Parts: sequence; structure tokens; C-alpha cells
Amino acid sequence: MLCAHTERLSLKNLACTYQQLTNLTTSPSIRVPPQLSASATTLTAVSKKRVVVIGGGPAGLIAADLLAGTCEVHLCENGRTLGRKFLVAGDGGLNITHSAVGEDLSARYTPTEFMRAPLLAFGPVELRAWLAERGVDTFIGSSGRIFPRPPLTPAQVLRAIVDKVVDKGVQVHLRHAFAGFDAERCPIVVYEGSPVSMVADHYLFALGGASWPKTGSTGEWRQQFEGIGVHTVHFQASNCGVEVALPEAVRMHAGKPLKNVRVSAGELSQRGEVTITEHGLEGNAIYPIVPALREAMANGEEAHLLIDLKPDVTVQELERRLAGAAWKERVPALKLDRAAVALLKAFTPVQRYVEGGSLAEDVKALRIPVIGLRPLDEAISTVGGIALAEVAPDLSLIKHPHFSVAGEMIDRDAPTGGFLLQGAFSTGHAAAKGILARLADR
Ligand SMILES: Cc1cc2nc3c(=O)[nH]c(=O)nc-3n(C[C@H](O)[C@H](O)[C@H](O)COP(=O)(O)OP(=O)(O)OC[C@H]3O[C@@H](n4cnc5c(N)ncnc54)[C@H](O)[C@@H]3O)c2cc1C
Repeated sequence: MLCAHTERLSLKNLACTYQQLTNLTTSPSIRVPPQLSASATTLTAVSKKRVVVIGGGPAGLIAADLLAGTCEVHLCENGRTLGRKFLVAGDGGLNITHSAVGEDLSARYTPTEFMRAPLLAFGPVELRAWLAERGVDTFIGSSGRIFPRPPLTPAQVLRAIVDKVVDKGVQVHLRHAFAGFDAERCPIVVYEGSPVSMVADHYLFALGGASWPKTGSTGEWRQQFEGIGVHTVHFQASNCGVEVALPEAVRMHAGKPLKNVRVSAGELSQRGEVTITEHGLEGNAIYPIVPALREAMANGEEAHLLIDLKPDVTVQELERRLAGAAWKERVPALKLDRAAVALLKAFTPVQRYVEGGSLAEDVKALRIPVIGLRPLDEAISTVGGIALAEVAPDLSLIKHPHFSVAGEMIDRDAPTGGFLLQGAFSTGHAAAKGILARLADR
């Protein structure tokens, strides 16, 4: 159905090499631009409803998996391999979901109302069962985060998911890039420079957000959707580091983590780890409070962090430790490591630091001005994409009901901790269920 040259996954080596297996021919229902007709041949007609899924990340993969069997499914991916961001996510340990349930789970997502139904239908319990069916055992680690059980690697998890998708008959077309819509609002896919319009009964877009563009998720598709009247929101970094004007005395500690601190901004607060970087601060205690910083900056307000360097010790206890200590003994009495001391010294007004009368309070609420957020390229995730007002409850587009959307391309937000991948899988599942219901009605 797609273009004249189509690739399928090599089942022999899913560790990322793929093999050109077939030259698919074009079905009578596939519209090929006249200038391409010479290079296009003909596919046999099929009785199953045809669905084209565009984007081979977690959201597209689970949707293709669910649609396979009932539908003829074609999965188009612009990269040479599937799930590149999934593999990147696995670099620091693949935190695939979280053990939170019910409202505790949906409350982690913004907006909560949008994610409630997809999470209820396919939450962490269902995701773990789905993975287990693919031979991927998982375990609950610290703070309720869920990981594949060692020695499983992220590449093996991806391979297990892709194997099943291919086994179920999904036709995978690599290096097929979505490039816009034709006059009849069918998606155009480009393969080796040749654009082809595709006709199917339904289309699912799972094109990802705009962080780490080298994984294929460039967000360039926004203008194509704007072109057909679908409102999109510009992308901004989420779950990213923050830029802080750090003096050399702090930057020399770049790479060092401040463990067990509490970071707050606006209404948000998170306990965890903060790492000093060349440009500022990052880490799992920073990412969840980024929305408050982003909001402050958007409102033209001063954005700042408050860091509690000793969340388990009260101000009174710190004051007790400092009482009577000689000037030189005060910092050792706080029991802070050198990186934390450098930060404390850098962001406490000199006079105040020298006098030391408020040192305990400063340790508990160190105020650090934030200049900006790190760029999209470095962010773990983005907000922005398809505006929620454009999306129906079954994740089809209100203005174009034969299009559905899933995953990070929808303008929603979630913190790290497994919630991002869970969100991609849940919306992929919801979109597929929505498509099946729509196609059953036709
Ligand atoms: C460094 C890093 C660490 C992370 N760690 C975690 C973690 O531990 N836990 C967690 O839950 N999440 C983590 N994430 C986030 C998680 O990987 C993403 O939220 C998730 O991959 C989003 O899935 P998706 O299917 O919506 O999009 P993506 O995974 O981005 O997939 C979209 C796919 O669409 C393809 N595509 C894009 N444009 C086109 C086009 N024009 N034509 C055809 N195909 C196209 C892309 O190539 C890509 O394969 C991490 C992300 C990063 C960058």
C-alpha cells in the first residue's frame, strides 16, 4: 500500500539492523500522485480495515500491537530503527512505569482530567501484564518506580515488544517520514525522496514530542497539523535542567550530586537528588518543579528555587548544632558535603554568611535564582504539541475524526519516575481502542 520500496524488520537481528524484505505493491485504494505512478505497482485488495500508524515509539508500538489482528496495520517510522527514544530512556535505567494507582497516579499528570480515563483503562498493572506477556518481567524499585528485572536490558525489552508486533503481522516501514497532507487530507509519507499519499480507514499519529531530536522526535510535524486547521502549542522543555549563574567555586563541583535535598518552587516541591552542571542544576528533585518555574517565567516573574539542604533536620536542631560553635566550626557542624557548602556560600548574601546568625534558615531554604530552562535538545520530555481542545475523548481529532493521536505529541505533562512512558503506553492503548470502536461502527 505504501511506496514501491518498503522495509520490514529483520526478525533475526532486532538489536537494530533491519532488512529490506518486500516490495509492497499498491492497493486500489492507495492514491499515488500521478508523477509517481510509474514507480508504483499494485497491492491486492484486503478485506480488513486498514490503519496506518505513524511514529514507532512506545505509543505507536502499543497501538499497532492492539490493532493488529483486527486490522491491517502499517507502522511508518522516519528512522532506521524503532523506539530510539525508548532506548535513550533506558540509558540511566529503564524506569518503565510507576506503582502509583488510581487518583494518586492520575494526579501526577497535567491535566489530570485528560489522562484519567486512559490510565484507568491501561495503568501500570495492565502495562506490567502486557510486558509479561512479551516475556518482560518487571519489579518495583525504590520510591515505587518500576523497572525491567535484571539482567533484561532496554534493547531486549524493545526487541520483545517489536518481535510481538511483527509476529502479529504489523508491516513496519522504516525510513518512511510523514511530511504533510495531500489535498484530500491523506498523510503523505516520503521514502528515499519520493512522496506517496496513503489511503487507509484510519490514521494514528504517534510522532512524539520535541526533545532529543536526534532520536527522531523533532516536533517538525506541528506546522503540518496547523495547515489542516489543527491548533498546536509551541514546544517547551519539561523535565529538564535549569540554568543558574554559578560561580566558579560551585562549577568546579560539576557532576557532583547533592543527595537527599528538597527543592521547591511555587506550589511544587520534590525531594531527591540535585546535580551541579556547567550550566546550572539538574536531577530528579529539579525536574518535577520545572512547571512552576516555566509558569513564573511565562508571567514575567522572577523564577527561583528554594533548596532545603537538610530536609530531615529542623531549623531548631541546626541552630542547636551551631550554637556556641566557633566561626571555623560552624560549617563542619552542619555536616554538609563540599558541593553543598559551595552552593550555600555562593547563594547566601556575603554579610549574612559572615555573620552567620541565619545560617540554619539558609540551609533550610537556600534561594537560588533561575535564569532559564535548558534547551529542548537536552530535555527528557516536552510540553506542547496537539492542543487538548482538538482531541476527543477517544483521542481522535475533533476536526478530522479519521485521525487519532497518542503519546508525547499531545500537549500534556508528567514528571519523571516512569510516568512518561506509562503516559505514552496508556494513550497509545486508548487511541487504539478508540479506533477499533470507530471502525466497528462503520
Ligand atoms: C534522556 C531521556 C530519558 C528518559 N527516561 C525516561 C524514563 O526513565 N522513564 C520514562 O517514563 N520516560 C523517560 N523518558 C521519556 C520517554 O522516552 C518518552 O516520553 C516516550 O518515548 C514518548 O513516547 P512516544 O511514543 O510518545 O514518542 P517517541 O518515543 O518520541 O516516538 C515518536 C516516534 O515518532 C517518530 N517520528 C517523528 N516524526 C516523524 C515523522 N515525521 N515521520 C515518521 N516518524 C516520525 C520518531 O522517530 C519516533 O520514533 C526519557 C526521555 C529521554 C530523552
